[in-house]
Amino acid sequence: MDDSFDEERYDSVYANDPVSEFLNVTESLRIQSLDQLLEEDKRTNAQKDDPIAWYHGKIPREAAESILKEGLASLQGTGADSNGLYLIRDSTSSDKDFVVSVTHDAKVFHFQIKEVFDGHYKLDEGPTTQGLEKLVAFYENGANGLITKLTRHCKGSPPPDRARLNGPTNLLHRAVMEGNEDTVASILQHRLCPPVNAKNELGTTALHDASKYGKAVIARLLIDKGADVHAKDRAGFTPLHRACSANYADVVTLLIKHGKADPQIRSPKTGWVALHEAAMKGNADCIKKLLQFFAPMMPRADDGQTPLDLASRYNRQDCIPLLRFPDKRQVRTKKEYWFHSGLDRKAATQLLEEYRKEEGLFLVRKSTRNEHYNVISLCHKKSIFNFEIKVTDYQNCSVHYIDDGPYFENLLQLIEHYSRYCDGLSTKLRASITSDKRKMEIDEEYYNVQDVNNTSKRLSSPAPPVPQSRPVLPTHPNHLHGDPKNEPPPLPPSHPPTKQPSASLKKDLGDRQSSLDEFKKIDKRDIKIGCELGQGEFGAVKKGFYTQRKAKFRSTQTEVALKTFHDDSMSGAMTSIMEEARLMQRLDHECIVKLYGICEKPFMLVEEFIPLGSMLDYLYEHKNQIQANPTMYLWASQVAHGMCYLETMKIVHRDLAARNILVQSMQQVKISDFGLSRAFVEEKNYYQASKGGRWPIKWYAPECVNYGKFNHKTDVWSFGITLWEMFSYGEQPYGDKKGVEVMQFIESGERLEKPDNCPKTCYLKMLECWNKEPAKRPDFNDLYRHFQVDQEYASVSEIQRSRTKKY
Ligand code: AMP
Repeated sequence: MDDSFDEERYDSVYANDPVSEFLNVTESLRIQSLDQLLEEDKRTNAQKDDPIAWYHGKIPREAAESILKEGLASLQGTGADSNGLYLIRDSTSSDKDFVVSVTHDAKVFHFQIKEVFDGHYKLDEGPTTQGLEKLVAFYENGANGLITKLTRHCKGSPPPDRARLNGPTNLLHRAVMEGNEDTVASILQHRLCPPVNAKNELGTTALHDASKYGKAVIARLLIDKGADVHAKDRAGFTPLHRACSANYADVVTLLIKHGKADPQIRSPKTGWVALHEAAMKGNADCIKKLLQFFAPMMPRADDGQTPLDLASRYNRQDCIPLLRFPDKRQVRTKKEYWFHSGLDRKAATQLLEEYRKEEGLFLVRKSTRNEHYNVISLCHKKSIFNFEIKVTDYQNCSVHYIDDGPYFENLLQLIEHYSRYCDGLSTKLRASITSDKRKMEIDEEYYNVQDVNNTSKRLSSPAPPVPQSRPVLPTHPNHLHGDPKNEPPPLPPSHPPTKQPSASLKKDLGDRQSSLDEFKKIDKRDIKIGCELGQGEFGAVKKGFYTQRKAKFRSTQTEVALKTFHDDSMSGAMTSIMEEARLMQRLDHECIVKLYGICEKPFMLVEEFIPLGSMLDYLYEHKNQIQANPTMYLWASQVAHGMCYLETMKIVHRDLAARNILVQSMQQVKISDFGLSRAFVEEKNYYQASKGGRWPIKWYAPECVNYGKFNHKTDVWSFGITLWEMFSYGEQPYGDKKGVEVMQFIESGERLEKPDNCPKTCYLKMLECWNKEPAKRPDFNDLYRHFQVDQEYASVSEIQRSRTKKY
């Protein structure tokens, strides 16, 4: 993790550019005017960018098709291959993704290019490349599974800076490297100034270079011109990482104070934050500066290493004492500002609701799962998120942490940190409910300026309580990053989404109309919306009543669950939502949640109401009341029964887990959440996942993770994990292990251990479900029969026989 990365020349069209080596901007300005130099720079760089001028911005699919058809027409008679004429455009369904539109046999095909993370892209099952240019080059080299190789492009412009790995070194880059402040200032003021966030041939922005070479004044000019302080270079580092690596403490100050740089931004390649970089390089001044700006002392990298570990490994003797606990920085918060020792999840929810779930409002309470843990209940976008604060041992000291976030010596330090930096939580902690139940604003100045003496806080009384017709079911207290399915919502965008529907949303709403026609539509006037039942991936799930008008003056009222959607989830998620609805509409089985129809405005899925909510929550809230025999066996047989039905309908669920089973009663559970399900194409034997996205890896068979393949046998693997969750009363499978660690664990032949109260025969079934070879796993019919008729579970059959069928 040293700078060798930068020294290494990238084999691109921009490498070995003789001009970039020799042109001295300040010298040249004695001979030529800045106007001339910038004109010349623009022209030569446009020429260099010509091979990648395939980007057409935010154009709809129809426009792409007509551009390509015109292109095809102009190729006619030239003898050129008409297959593989292409262009790249922005995806209309996701702000970060792109689409390649390409011709084949005189038709146009469109393929989604997904951003996997920070400037890394993937098309279908192809490789992940850093930078869009590399991805396009890969498919120019050969079809590689695409319908055709990309042969020539319709001319547009080069890709946007954020999606590029590198670019031609421009006059601004050169002037920054020279370090002449006046020259840089003149360029920045000039009408032909290159884009301030453009990357050079080595993949760094001008601000990265200013930071790396310690040019604080220039860095300030760049920030004032709009340079992105969080831009990432090829190593995934921000300007702050670079300044820390090169030990420029004054630049660190400037980036954080003036540029509002967040010291907790991680490199996507290693998980290192700036403090790791400073510690590894032994740059004590930068360490002091970062700590002075409240960077946490013990952030953890992807492999768990702290800056102290690095400083010790590289023998940075003067840094070690700075990075070792005790953390002597003054803590200003107090436990009585937010701690509620006797509150459970339901009471915490009610209390936060009394204050209308204001953004960033929080409290801390004891975990009901583990007496040593605490939980932050935090409001974000009118929902409540629960983050478990765990305790572990680090270098003989007991430390507190949330998921893979930093270690803290105590709860006070942890709360103070998350009041300053969001650092993976859904939002920063902005206001708390005090132990005497008043609201306390967190004054940013108070936290961020060190020498403030004023300790007074703004207090207010609760808002009048919002009437609740039914206690809100608590959200699942799964934590931040450890469980891929329970990720926190994405960090708030730097530019909050506008309330107006975006162009893409408008288009999606338009596209939606045609697909809506296939659904049973329910009139908004027939729906009464009630309290929130829980949070789904795209919005709240609410209770409601559906009035079905049968004949004149005759109607019935049915309790329903209403799946609602945030405005800002609509544009990106429409396809998944419609997919879920389309699948559910085809299903009719007693062990599967029914879809009654769709309400158009506001857009909602109207589903059968399942009163006791998710099985996962139910299990650990009623631990002592649920017996393995008969209840769990009965539930297991019902899930297997529902899955048999899905198999006959040729549907692969892909997200079978306790969180997605709903409890109707002690005698009936139902499978829900078809957000990840896909119709299964039999000839292919496997459904191939075409999009990356959020995968519940801990529930997935190895072939899902390794090859993106899904079929009924991979659902069987997930069924085994669901059984394990049931018999361990809602424990987290594989505990704190991350996705990669779980995969290694599985590959090495290990499996989850038998839960304490699980009968041996049942555990053996789980192990069968987790057979490495899909063919050796049982099928759902076997599983259904096993749980229904096995001698050991005789009582299950009795219950099933005695149950009156309500459907
Ligand atoms: P989902 O979007 O399916 O993940 O749902 C999120 C949460 O909403 C679940 O965990 C349940 O607590 C609740 N929920 C979803 N669907 C229903 C339903 N049909 N009946 C009752 N509660 C539901």
